[in-house]
Amino acid sequence: MDVVLVASEAVPFAKTGGLADVAGALPRALASLGHRPALFLPEYRRVRQLGLDLRDADIAFQIPLGARSVEGRILRGRLPGSEVPVYLIHQPEFFDRDGLYGTGTADYDDNCERFVFFQRAVLESIRMLGLRPNIIHCNDWQTGLIPAYVRTLYRNVPAIAAAGTLYTIHNLAYLGVFWHWDMALTGLDWQLFNWRQLEFHGKLCFMKAGLVFADRISTVSPTYASEIQTSRFGSGLDGLLRARSTELRGIVNGIDTEAWNPAHEPMLARRYDIATVEEGKAQCKEWLQAHAGLQRRPDIPLFAQIGRLDPQKGWELLAEVADRLLDSAQLIVLGAGHPRYHTLLDELAQRHPGRCAAYLGFNEELAHQIEAGADLFLMPSLFEPCGLNQLYSLAHGTVPIVRATGGLADTVVDTTPRTLADGTANGFRFDEPTADALWQAIERALSLWRDRETWVRLMRNGMGADWSWDRSAREYATTYDEIARTQRAAC
Ligand code: ADP
Repeated sequence: MDVVLVASEAVPFAKTGGLADVAGALPRALASLGHRPALFLPEYRRVRQLGLDLRDADIAFQIPLGARSVEGRILRGRLPGSEVPVYLIHQPEFFDRDGLYGTGTADYDDNCERFVFFQRAVLESIRMLGLRPNIIHCNDWQTGLIPAYVRTLYRNVPAIAAAGTLYTIHNLAYLGVFWHWDMALTGLDWQLFNWRQLEFHGKLCFMKAGLVFADRISTVSPTYASEIQTSRFGSGLDGLLRARSTELRGIVNGIDTEAWNPAHEPMLARRYDIATVEEGKAQCKEWLQAHAGLQRRPDIPLFAQIGRLDPQKGWELLAEVADRLLDSAQLIVLGAGHPRYHTLLDELAQRHPGRCAAYLGFNEELAHQIEAGADLFLMPSLFEPCGLNQLYSLAHGTVPIVRATGGLADTVVDTTPRTLADGTANGFRFDEPTADALWQAIERALSLWRDRETWVRLMRNGMGADWSWDRSAREYATTYDEIARTQRAAC
């Protein structure tokens, strides 16, 4: 199967969140199953700074954007460590910037133009490169117009019209909504600007376009696939998702089991596996405590959290329990985001010297060292489409405490006498999005932590499970097959 994957970020080129991990890993996993994937991305400034081997494909095109026409080019490379072709859309006015989507405090105000350009550039590139994809796999709002283009402006271009489309929602909280006059930038017919298609409360919505026009829709866990069909999690699109529920499925993300494997990670103080987790983790914890300026105490549990500092991640709940937690434990946080939480973390670190360390920024290497050195990982998310950090934690024998939502509910098994007995227990879960419920889960974990024999079983249960991309890639391949079969039947 020839699959074109389109994403606005992918590891190792550019990353702000989980989408990048998926877009970097899925093509490799598809290739090892015998498919022929190709990946399209914008050429951001940071991509060029990586110094990868990228060649100009000697193909230029003009994209109409309202009244003007903007030139773009294609650079060609490979996904490192694989034969998967990567095509980068070169357009310095739009992509030679520090950020991917904004400055850190605000989105770029030409994001509509930037991503209309990107999406049309991808379709032009497919045509000009002579690709014949069976499937065009789009991801999140930055690629939501592509399924609409495939069925409208490009319906007479055989190489594109023959493709089936899959649209994957990685986070329904980000819709890509722009004022209605931006319809003119898209080149699409104003007739599509109606409540059944591209219009969303009087505005243009890229996410909605993907949900309406794609042949199939997927999201990154079965529980999130159900949740987004409710008004609580549906971001106003739950009605549309309910109407398409038979074409919607949830596929839990895998993890890169080479990159996130404590037996191989070069940055760890000591590498370990399921057999040596007790000693290995103790050494990594000692290193982390020293590195972070925490008291070097093996007898105190070390909690961690890594990720965007955003209300989605349950920071209001964490703020309420943090002081109580730090009476009997240590906490290390790595993240960047909302200034309110930067202040909260700075203040916590000052109030609890030697007990709390906060790294405000993005640091891939430290993320690995924290996953290996911490005892427990906190993820009290209000919603979580899939979540990767609980999977990285499980792979490192770091026991996750999660709210039972989205992918967290699909991957973390609560510790009870029954799940301990049948060997499935791997973490702690709570249901209500309240500080009390979180605290009760923390207390359960703290009391079990002292029982070393049971704790080691818990760590090993997490480490023993298969979170590789192979399983997820097979589910994507089945979905591609279903789309291609329906597409052929319709032709
Ligand atoms: P989301 O996509 O909602 O941000 P996920 O858990 O799905 O959350 O994925 C987040 C990814 O980004 C993980 O790989 C996580 O380790 C990484 N990450 C987030 N913030 C940071 C940070 N400050 N430093 C290093 N890695 C980070």
